Amino acid sequence: MNKIVVVILVTVLVVYLVRRMAANRIQPPAKTQKKVAEDMVRCQACGVNLPRSEAILSQGRFYCCDEHRKSGA
Ligand SMILES: [Zn+2]
Repeated sequence: MNKIVVVILVTVLVVYLVRRMAANRIQPPAKTQKKVAEDMVRCQACGVNLPRSEAILSQGRFYCCDEHRKSGA
């Protein structure tokens, strides 16, 4: 008779844990989506690809750093 009680308790515990894990997955995703959707641009001096927000725009051309902007201008 004791075995049935243990089986019921384990089943209840498993159902509880599965429901808690499912609830955690429903939570909104982290704020990494913005970076994934961001445009990539190419440095005119060295050709490296970088996000548009991190690039330096000068006279319609993108550069990865201020040094390359000066050398490319
Ligand atoms: Zn560069």
